[in-house]
Amino acid sequence: MNISPTKTPDRITPAIVKGCTQLVPSGIPIFVERAQEHDALINKCVFNVKNYLLSNPGEMVLGWEIAIWENVLLDCIGHAVVRVDGKLKCITPSKYGDTKLLFLPDPSLTFDFSEKMSRMPTTQVAISTRPEVKRLIEIESLERSIKVKYPVSTQEIIIGGQDAYELQRLAKEKQWTILMVILATSDHTTKCLCGSGKKFRKCHRSAMESMLVER
Ligand SMILES: [Zn+2]
Repeated sequence: MNISPTKTPDRITPAIVKGCTQLVPSGIPIFVERAQEHDALINKCVFNVKNYLLSNPGEMVLGWEIAIWENVLLDCIGHAVVRVDGKLKCITPSKYGDTKLLFLPDPSLTFDFSEKMSRMPTTQVAISTRPEVKRLIEIESLERSIKVKYPVSTQEIIIGGQDAYELQRLAKEKQWTILMVILATSDHTTKCLCGSGKKFRKCHRSAMESMLVER
């Protein structure tokens, strides 16, 4: 089963607005259409925008792409879009085939094209106060603190030694923590994440519980 609880929100809820305020104090999230450019690459937003602006009008706007794990957290990925005639548009293809994204402009973000270690930041904001959620966010942050030591590449990044060991340990802990978060934040109305359309308690709940027991 492929667990992917985070998705582009359908609408902007009070929880999303509140979470965004933690990231950008006066920030207002807005939906931005994805208008795909033929030579734009997934995950290469700043370079896509830079190339696009060589032959098109507009300016680059940096901010965060906001995805939500309902009742758990906001997943925030640094993202670049284009502003033309006061309107924002995204020219970077979505990994998930989404036609729009929720974008939170952040004037404090910068990107240094002359530095090959430059990368867009990633962060998460808790919506839930549960300790499992806090730990999950800590794990992601620990993983990032290791990965930033290595250059960004389209190829597989080679990580060895203690860092590789630590990443493996964190990946394991993350799996369990995600399961614990799913179990802790589901109620009788929650739909199963597997996409079956069934209630979680009638679908994958017992399978997940036994995975945690077998750990
Ligand atoms: Zn299921």
